[in-house]
Amino acid sequence: MIQVGVVGYGTIGKRVADAVVAQRDMEVVGVAKTSPNFEAETAVSKGFELYAAVEERRELFDEAGIPVAGDLDALVDAADVIVDATPSGIGAQNKETYEAHDTPAIYQGGEDADVADTSFNARANFEDAVGADHVRVVSCNTTGLSRLLAPLREEYGVEKARVTLVRRGGDPGQTGRGPIDDILPDPVSLPSHHGPDVKTIFPDVDIDTLGLKVPATLMHMHSVNVTLEDDADAEAVRDLLAEESRTFLVPGSAGIDGSGKLKEFALDSGRSRGDVWENCIWEESIAVRGDDLYLFQAIHQESDVVPENVDAIRAITDSAGKAESIATTNETLGMGLGRDL
Ligand code: NAD
Repeated sequence: MIQVGVVGYGTIGKRVADAVVAQRDMEVVGVAKTSPNFEAETAVSKGFELYAAVEERRELFDEAGIPVAGDLDALVDAADVIVDATPSGIGAQNKETYEAHDTPAIYQGGEDADVADTSFNARANFEDAVGADHVRVVSCNTTGLSRLLAPLREEYGVEKARVTLVRRGGDPGQTGRGPIDDILPDPVSLPSHHGPDVKTIFPDVDIDTLGLKVPATLMHMHSVNVTLEDDADAEAVRDLLAEESRTFLVPGSAGIDGSGKLKEFALDSGRSRGDVWENCIWEESIAVRGDDLYLFQAIHQESDVVPENVDAIRAITDSAGKAESIATTNETLGMGLGRDL
């Protein structure tokens, strides 16, 4: 069993911990937190050993009556691999602790790419992370774009990708975020950081990305235009994406007209926290005009990177190959092929 330590038990970290528990080849050795909040209590009630991420804040846990097993060094020492899911920039600060213990670590997309030996998306470049010491799972949006571009590149070749990302202002729990009543070009100048980030996965891809922020919390929405090198028609692209395991083709018959109903569907399907790990591509939006492919896809920012972190754990520990890891992660989490959620 691979012993996984989770540092940062917030939106991403708590989901990764639960996904690790669902695997047969790994277990959570402990989770590290800075605040004795409701998520700390949840961690304890789930049976996770809780570690104080910052020594000076340990007494806050004592005052709150939440038992702490040790400090960050103790967790890193006990772990075979760390998943760092701390806020942007903290992972880079924690890196020296992981190196001091010779413990390989997986970082999230809020970190700069140079924190790690390689950026990671299981479908696109699993092998690059095999045996690495430091791996960065790319952000929610870059994960969604990588999953889409990988099969398109293999089947048709990508001449140029242009993507407008309509991004949620904040996660449901991020009460301080906005905008509340506005639509922000964000950033106002080309490119948004997403295009360069996709290039950390596909260095040779020609991609321009524009970003906006809107008053929404549930999901991001991508308006995608990809100029393909080889001839394609919409039906063939639908069939191609239907064979992928982390792209859900939203059928027209479902009556799902946006991210609200997608989340409702996920909750009705019994998904924990209403998580949608897959890219949600509206089947009816897939269109080809000349060499240009168009589609809309929704990305659940809180969860699409979760299966990627599980695969990154197997890659960094060199404990399973790409196909085996992806299949195991999909099966244990309950992900089907393209037309099943
Ligand atoms: P979050 O704020 O929900 O959770 C971060 C957790 O880390 C919190 O529990 C916080 O208390 C804790 N923490 C803060 N400082 C710490 C420290 N020094 N040591 C240990 N824990 C510490 O953040 P999040 O949304 O889960 O984001 C984590 C990372 O994942 C970031 O790099 C982010 O960019 C990336 N990411 C976030 C999303 C998203 O939409 N939420 C999607 C993909 C990737």
